[in-house]
Amino acid sequence: MVIRQPSLRWPVPSQLNARLKGVHIREVLRRGKYLLLRTEPGTVIIHLGMSGSLRILKSAEAPEKHDHVDIVFKGSVILRYTDPRRFGCVLWTEDEPHSHKLLSALGPEPLTDLFGEEYLFAKSRGRSVPVKSFIMDSKVVVGVGNIYANEALFRAGIRPLQSSGRISKQRYARLTSAIKRVLQDAISKGGTTLRDFVDGDGQPGYFAQQLDVYGRAGQPCNRCGNLLKELRLAQRATVYCASCQH
Ligand code: ZN
Repeated sequence: MVIRQPSLRWPVPSQLNARLKGVHIREVLRRGKYLLLRTEPGTVIIHLGMSGSLRILKSAEAPEKHDHVDIVFKGSVILRYTDPRRFGCVLWTEDEPHSHKLLSALGPEPLTDLFGEEYLFAKSRGRSVPVKSFIMDSKVVVGVGNIYANEALFRAGIRPLQSSGRISKQRYARLTSAIKRVLQDAISKGGTTLRDFVDGDGQPGYFAQQLDVYGRAGQPCNRCGNLLKELRLAQRATVYCASCQH
C-alpha cells in the first residue's frame, strides 16, 4: 500500500499499510455510499466523497497529483484512489464494519424489504420536513440522490414540498415502489450522472435520457402537458408538475 496524501476527509490511518501487508480481500461490500473491503484482520472503509474515483491499474502508472492512495496487489495490480477535492475517506476498522459510527446511523438500503411503506410511514410521523428532503436523508434511507428523488416523487404523484409527516401510508406505498423502480431503471441503464460519470467499464450512464422531470423545468409534463415548475430545496434543483403532483 502507498499513502501519498493522508489528509482526506479524515486522516488515512497510518497503521493501514502494515495491517494490509500480505492479506487477502475476502469480500467487497457496499453500504450506502461506503465501499467495504473485508480482510481477515479487519475492513477497509472507502468513501469517494464528491469527486473521488477508484481505478484498477494492471501495471504501475506514475501517480498524478490527486492519486492519494494505492492498494497494491500481488502481480503489481493496483487499486488507485483518486480524489481532487479530498472529501472522501479511506479508513480501517477491526470491529464489525456495520457498527462503525459512519455506518451505524444509516437508514435501510432502498432495494431491500426493510424499505417499505410501513417503515417510511412510521419514520415520518411527527416530522414536518418536506418529503423530498426526508427521502434524501441517509438516516431515513440511503441511495436516494437528488435526481432520483425528483423522479420518484413525480412517478408517485407527490409534491416535493409536502410535509413528510402528513403523507398517508397509501401514498408512501406509491412512493416506496416509485423509488425502487426509479433506482432499478437507473441501475439497468448504468446510472445517471450527466457530467463526468463513467462506470467500471469507463462508459457514461444513460438513464439521464429518460428523466421525466429532472433537468426539464419549463418543458411540458410527459403525463399532462402542463409546463414543469422548478424551485430550490436545500440548494438542490427540484422540478415537479403542479397538476400531476399533490
Ligand atoms: Zn403533469
